Amino acid sequence: MIAILKQNASPERTQMLIDWLKRQGLGVHVSQGEFSTVLGLIGDTSKVDIDMLTSLDIIEKVMRVSEPFKAVNRKFHPDDTVVKVNDSVSIGGGHFGMIAGPCSVECCEQIVYVAQRVKAAGANILRGGAFKPRTSPYDFQGLGAEGIELLKEARKQTGLPIITEIMDIRSIELFEDVDVIQVGARNTQNFDLLRELGKTNKPILLKRGLAGTIKELLMSAEYIIASGNENVILCERGIRTYESAYTRNTLDLSAVPVLKELTHLPVVVDPSHATGRASLVPSMAMAAAAAGADGLMIEVHNDPIHALSDGAQSLTPDAFDDLARRVFKLREALV
Ligand code: PEP
Ligand code: MN
Repeated sequence: MIAILKQNASPERTQMLIDWLKRQGLGVHVSQGEFSTVLGLIGDTSKVDIDMLTSLDIIEKVMRVSEPFKAVNRKFHPDDTVVKVNDSVSIGGGHFGMIAGPCSVECCEQIVYVAQRVKAAGANILRGGAFKPRTSPYDFQGLGAEGIELLKEARKQTGLPIITEIMDIRSIELFEDVDVIQVGARNTQNFDLLRELGKTNKPILLKRGLAGTIKELLMSAEYIIASGNENVILCERGIRTYESAYTRNTLDLSAVPVLKELTHLPVVVDPSHATGRASLVPSMAMAAAAAGADGLMIEVHNDPIHALSDGAQSLTPDAFDDLARRVFKLREALV
């Protein structure tokens, strides 16, 4: 249920109402917009007397929210959420996240070189997997803790904030100095992990599950916010369909406008995992930007043919340079 307050509602009366609602056993999510304040009520609202609430002189309107996702719902928070990554980089509400880097961190020279190249091309966040969720246990599993140290070194040399994937909550201490924590497609519904990440205040990039619905993605984001962390970025990375010969996954670009309608959270698109082929990445990246994505996540490798993971979908630094220029131009044309 949401209660929209009148524009002239005083802070004292608003606080009294919030305290009273909390005493009824409800969680109250306050969204202070430019023009109005919205109170989102979470919990068993069946006993709330809508007529009584509506009759209060500081209330403009009371509405039930039928969707199961509440805190992520745009009805709870009409303005776009802007997730602050560091002092100079944000995602959402017009701030574009250009996330680029290799699938896996392989060595110091590789990650520093790629970081320098993607930064020069206009990327504002460096990606690199240290803990890799590989389908085969015999494939390269990532450098683990050392990979995170190498990302920090690349950050030191370039100033780019870093994003890397967490697979197991037992390694959370290693992520203390990481700027954005990624939850991969295989862990989208690892609810214990989501709950624990909700206890941190780190930005979390939450990927859509391998065959996850939009509702499931939103419910997973709800787990993080319900535990206290509102810094969530959603990521469309393709879903599994009957097509497997020519694309690795099927990029659901309609998820971008659908999510932008349903939620206030930023939405980024990963065309690399969505397509699985470097030749398809530029057109899908452009399409995602045109569809209104708040950012892109693109795999870039100095030597794709010899990459230890996902080489086939990785752009060379030159190709990323060209793509980034076109994406920024497209975004200028869109406004
Ligand atoms: C990744 O970003 O490297 C990754 C493994 O992505 P996903 O979880 O989307 O497969
Ligand atoms: Mn990858």
